[in-house]
Amino acid sequence: MRLDALIFGGGAAGLWLLDRMSRDGHHVLLLESHSLGSGQTIASQGIIHGGLKYSLAGMLTKSAKNIRELPTVWRDSLLGKTTPNLTRTQLRSDCCYLWQTDTLASRAGMIGARIGLKVKPETISSDERPESLDGVYGTVARLPEQVISPHSFLQDLATQYDDRILQIDAQQGLEFQLDSPGEVKAIRLISPTDGSTLELHPRQVIFTAGGGNARLRQQAGLSADVMQRRPLHMVLVRGPLPELNGHCLDGARTRVTITSERDQLGRMVWQVGGQVAEDGVKMDARSLTEHVRRELSSVLPAVDLRQAEWSTYAVDRAEGATVNGGRPESIQVLCAGNVTTGWPTKLVLAPVLAEEISSRATSPYLSAPFDTTPFAEWPRPAVAALPWEEASCHWWNVGSVPVIPRRRAA
Ligand SMILES: Cc1cc2nc3c(=O)[nH]c(=O)nc-3n(C[C@H](O)[C@H](O)[C@H](O)COP(=O)(O)OP(=O)(O)OC[C@H]3O[C@@H](n4cnc5c(N)ncnc54)[C@H](O)[C@@H]3O)c2cc1C
Repeated sequence: MRLDALIFGGGAAGLWLLDRMSRDGHHVLLLESHSLGSGQTIASQGIIHGGLKYSLAGMLTKSAKNIRELPTVWRDSLLGKTTPNLTRTQLRSDCCYLWQTDTLASRAGMIGARIGLKVKPETISSDERPESLDGVYGTVARLPEQVISPHSFLQDLATQYDDRILQIDAQQGLEFQLDSPGEVKAIRLISPTDGSTLELHPRQVIFTAGGGNARLRQQAGLSADVMQRRPLHMVLVRGPLPELNGHCLDGARTRVTITSERDQLGRMVWQVGGQVAEDGVKMDARSLTEHVRRELSSVLPAVDLRQAEWSTYAVDRAEGATVNGGRPESIQVLCAGNVTTGWPTKLVLAPVLAEEISSRATSPYLSAPFDTTPFAEWPRPAVAALPWEEASCHWWNVGSVPVIPRRRAA
């Protein structure tokens, strides 16, 4: 079957692109080898950053510039004012809180945060503060950065494009036929359920498979040595906790970033990232849990953690390689032959990546509407489970920490 484009990988990047190219009239399919968003999107904190994080040193950095229009783009999609329509995506919060620790550098961070950003922190009075921030040092600010639930976001787009998202077995059921390195002639799929086959002839092949891009590029005859992984070790806290979404700043660092969502049984779960998740890469689960418990007690004196249960998960950020191995300033796109490889770098940048890739695509060459009935019987992927809903997620009270298996990299 002839196609305009074939997308590999159904995280934030692939799904946003699928929406964009389908709306532009392309005959496009998305192939997913595990569950949608497994890897980074489902593990992310879902913050629609507006650049604050990247201007804490007091300067408007390139990263902050690249990101500052994005909260409006997402807000309009979440309201259904623009495409993709994300009105079924659940908001964890309409804003983040910012507070600081008792250091001079931290106060400078709050000032630096105001430079040149569209989404700026506004100081709130003490009676507007959430109870969880009682007793914290200095001012508290509200930052109009929304926080989404990644699971509902993935589900929202998966439901809208169910007819063109297919499950594949990337090990046993995927074969590339190449004209030359980077020139894909055809893709042959074997159904993971009944062994039936499908031969696809896409004009363009797009890899938005996060950490899976390296292997896919090899299969397309291209170098895999263009990707980097930056690990994080995140902490989960569950129990009688208040809802809280925000960052505790310490100079140019985010000492902790906390996002909250209730689990399927209605219990509050905090995802704790920021500096502690970077530090945690070198720690085992027990040491990291103890470190984070101390940090939270220090930066949130009013929160009672005595009944909390703890867990951790390790996950890699997968990005295009940079010279020094640091975070790329924005999206990364590589083109060779009829293959495009893309990494959004941040969830919030998925619309920018979709715009960049779709604007390079030639106009659709098949003018008739895309008839997806030939794929009606093909298996569909599920949406990945949130880290705290995974069967492998173990919980403990401080003092009884099991060994946690490493999460599969995307
Ligand atoms: C802990 C953490 C917190 C984060 N928090 C934020 C945040 O708050 N805000 C923000 O803007 N960004 C955040 N990020 C970054 C953000 O999550 C990522 O930049 C973004 O989700 C990447 O999306 P993606 O679609 O490129 O990759 P992924 O989400 O990793 O999706 C890749 C998909 O490709 C599939 N795949 C892999 N191999 C193949 C194959 N061979 N064939 C087909 N499919 C394949 C995978 O199963 C997966 O579904 C965070 C990242 C992490 C790790």
